[in-house]
Amino acid sequence: MSDTYDLLVIGAGSGGVAASRRAAAHGAKVAVVEASRVGGTCVIRGCVPKKLLMYAAQFRDAFREAAGFGWSLGQPHFEMPRWAAAKAAETDRLEQIYRQMLAGSKVELVEGRACIEGPGRVRVGDRLLQARHLLIASGAQPVRDSIPGIEGCATSDELLDLHVLPASAAVIGSGFIALEFASLLQRLGVRVSLFYRAGLPLRGFDEDLRTRAAAALQAAGIELHPGCVPRAIQHADGQRLLVLDDERVPGFPFVLNATGRRPNTAGLGLETIGITPDARGAIPVDAQLRTSAANVYAIGDVTHRVNLTPVAIAEGRALADSLFGGAPRSVDLSLVASAVFMLPPVATIGPTEAELAASGAKLAVFEADFRPMKQAFIGGTERCYMKLLVDAAGGRVRAAHMIGTDAPEIIQSLAVAITAGATKAQFDRTIAMHPTAAEEFVLMREPVRRVG
Ligand code: NDP
Repeated sequence: MSDTYDLLVIGAGSGGVAASRRAAAHGAKVAVVEASRVGGTCVIRGCVPKKLLMYAAQFRDAFREAAGFGWSLGQPHFEMPRWAAAKAAETDRLEQIYRQMLAGSKVELVEGRACIEGPGRVRVGDRLLQARHLLIASGAQPVRDSIPGIEGCATSDELLDLHVLPASAAVIGSGFIALEFASLLQRLGVRVSLFYRAGLPLRGFDEDLRTRAAAALQAAGIELHPGCVPRAIQHADGQRLLVLDDERVPGFPFVLNATGRRPNTAGLGLETIGITPDARGAIPVDAQLRTSAANVYAIGDVTHRVNLTPVAIAEGRALADSLFGGAPRSVDLSLVASAVFMLPPVATIGPTEAELAASGAKLAVFEADFRPMKQAFIGGTERCYMKLLVDAAGGRVRAAHMIGTDAPEIIQSLAVAITAGATKAQFDRTIAMHPTAAEEFVLMREPVRRVG
């Protein structure tokens, strides 16, 4: 059986679904091929279930803090199987919504593994699909070979499907996934040890966030092992043994491999259309999301640029508008806000102070570092830190960085102003909303230092 489409999309994750539906809305005949569950990493095994587990974890802090506000509670007890059942029901519900959205948009869902057989030709099982335009939105998956023996350890995929939590865990890595899962596991009662090769976690983030993130993790009771990753991981008697450089071999019942993700390009048949993935396995694309093959495009994590769901969605819609909507456009990735949902969360938009300094920029640096009202009231130690980086000439706000409660919500709103090119004078003219933490961003009077 043979079918011909204006657009054939490989991967029904956030990016693939967004591109398919937008293209169909422009009148294109569209099919999307999916080998696993509709919704992809974000909905099924990433952002959504992670945040649902983070909500569960945050109750630990809420129960402790409640006493300071006059509440008496019994001994709280977390039952992972109950969370797991509710999570499964929720991801099923969301998957059904995604399926209905595709059907409602007249996008054909083809279930099976796609293999490209040549220009415009994709095989899925016994069907040969023909495409005028092909979009690769096949996402990424955890790296499972970063350290000898790590292939037998859990990744975030498996952790989110657990029904029983271990008593203790080693987390390897110090990026988004490592810090988010270290935080939530610790709040759920797991003793967590974090092993990472850099001196500070969150490589690539502003140094002031990195030092405070490390301090917050430590203050929560997570054991930090900077500059220390296992040479190998051995498996014996239900324990994972970490072989460290100094010959120590601590054992853990559970090891979380959080050492990064790799684009899903293997087995796609890219060689039949002359696409060669780069050294990281990613498909190179230009600003219009074009690959080296004619009429073949790629978006989202498979391009391994800014690996965030909203970026994949924005790219998918831009591509569909360009191909079928008569409105060619590209997505500007130079200013993308992001958040690490550790406890307390980190959120950021714009370059780090070090990056701007290295570029020769002349900057005024504004900071606020305080104990929020809620913490002060109960004698808590958790702090909030905010930083604005402002061009010395012209006063444009180049970046905002924050670690503290509600940081992702606050930075998301600030991102509008910063994307619009707001100046510090406009921040200063904004009347504060009191009492909030966010108001500190419009109450920073004098720079703490000048750079350049
Ligand atoms: P990251 O790239 O954020 O972190 C990978 C970590 O693994 C780093 O700490 C890195 O160390 C470490 N690492 C890599 N290779 C090795 C090795 N051989 N030995 C020891 N350590 C190693 O990847 P994640 O998997 O955490 O997340 C993948 C991407 O997914 C993120 O970059 C982000 O774009 C996205 N994501 C976004 C989330 C959000 O928006 N909240 C949540 C989760 C993921 P080093 O720093 O030293 O290189």
